[in-house]
Amino acid sequence: MTQATSRPQLAFLNDALDDLRARGTHFRLRILDDQQAPVCHYDGREVINLASNNYLGLANHPKLIEAAIDATRTFGVGSGAVRTIAGTMRIHMDLEEKIARFKNVEACVVFQSGFAANAGTVSAILGKDDFILSDELNHASIIDGARLSRAKIKVFRHKDVDHCEELLKEVANEAGHKLVITDGVFSMDGDIGRVDKLAALAEKYGAIMMVDDAHASGVLGRNGRGSIDHFGMHGRVDVQVGTLSKAIGALGGYVCGSRDLIDFLYHRARPFLFSTSHPPSVAATCIAAFDMLEQEPDRIERLWANTRYLQGELKRAGFNIGGVNTPATETPITPVIVGEGRAAMDFSRALFDEGVMGTGIAFPTVPEGKARIRLIVTSEHTRAQLDRALETLERVARRMSILSVS
Ligand SMILES: *Cc1c(COP(=O)(O)O)cnc(C)c1O
Repeated sequence: MTQATSRPQLAFLNDALDDLRARGTHFRLRILDDQQAPVCHYDGREVINLASNNYLGLANHPKLIEAAIDATRTFGVGSGAVRTIAGTMRIHMDLEEKIARFKNVEACVVFQSGFAANAGTVSAILGKDDFILSDELNHASIIDGARLSRAKIKVFRHKDVDHCEELLKEVANEAGHKLVITDGVFSMDGDIGRVDKLAALAEKYGAIMMVDDAHASGVLGRNGRGSIDHFGMHGRVDVQVGTLSKAIGALGGYVCGSRDLIDFLYHRARPFLFSTSHPPSVAATCIAAFDMLEQEPDRIERLWANTRYLQGELKRAGFNIGGVNTPATETPITPVIVGEGRAAMDFSRALFDEGVMGTGIAFPTVPEGKARIRLIVTSEHTRAQLDRALETLERVARRMSILSVS
């Protein structure tokens, strides 16, 4: 029999949930009934899907599906062990070599997720006598990695290079290593990190430079090579993290850098040492995805064309898509700022009922008063689908007084 209520030991969790309910920010998971596609079914309702990170439509691409099935038939469904015991398969090495060549670096190591790559790497390379200089809007996995490392964390204001330099000066005479770290693309506002300026600053102060390119992988730079390529900073970023879970369409994260960095992570990164490696199907899928990036760059062009169209039309309709009191998007990530948390969540729910899926995001993920829905187009959305979504957004927003009634 399923227990309906918590035992007293966990009653405090109910209080916390009640608090979320009172604020209107409690949610239930939406359940996808079919494939992660531009039009799909969540909770049995057909929606235009503007909520996924499936930027290039690779999550359900026939070639990648074939690659996964072939690898499964040949190599089985699981790797059987962590990488350092018995779970390093030839196909894992093939993927790492492929990514290293693609990114124009000496070596690459793949982790189970982008989260594991960030948290595992930061916590492995730094210790308690070291310093981390981190953008205030960096991803949670960087923050967790920083905490696990026990290094001293200095947070600089969002993309404020001068503030970062002030903090570097403060610790310039300390013995510990210094790490400057930024997201390549910030996930809530869609703006691009100051990778060029920060890397130059890191060089000036002898600090390690690290970039988390989760939302830039497959999106920015030539053939989706990321923010380092976008800024022409090859060879000047020591640690490049990317994800295989967003534009690449499958699951995983990777770290690119020198042979020594990767060799060190083999020996010290805890998710690498203590958690089982990917099934061969995942590695095969990712190899096929990098082939696509190399061979079909028109996908990336379609992604950007759709981005320009959606963002242009939203602005024309009078939506606040950031850039006033919030950073301005420069990528397919499109915030539609609503303000109050409850209003953003209500807007998201109303859109869903009318057939548009856009994620509601409230405090603490974004600052109080900056709650929003976040829209992400893919290369595979048609103009007709975007027009239908735009019409719905405008109609629902007027009804809810998010846009003034014209
Ligand atoms: C999504 C994301 C991650 C985590 O990547 P996963 O592969 O989903 O674990 C890390 N950093 C940033 C900036 C992200 O947006």
